Amino acid sequence: MRFALLGDNRIEAQPKLNGLCCCCSKPVIAKCGTRKIWHWAHKSKTDCDNWWEPETEWHRTWKNNYPADWQEIALFDKRTSEKTHCGCSYS
Ligand SMILES: [Zn+2]
Repeated sequence: MRFALLGDNRIEAQPKLNGLCCCCSKPVIAKCGTRKIWHWAHKSKTDCDNWWEPETEWHRTWKNNYPADWQEIALFDKRTSEKTHCGCSYS
């Protein structure tokens, strides 16, 4: 995913950073290699939605049509309070 929580901030992956998943609040680590786009990945196996992993260049470009504040925000069903998805459902 592109954003993770670090304190109260949503930040993009940078080398050696650790953050929290904005969906499941589990630890995520920054993956900043030379071959793939920089992103966050869960530290351990999780039942969190991971449809965004790996995220394609196309998908990221598509999401960049929207302001960063709109991207990858967990949405909740107002009636059931169930988490539905993290942003957009295309991967
Ligand atoms: Zn997660």
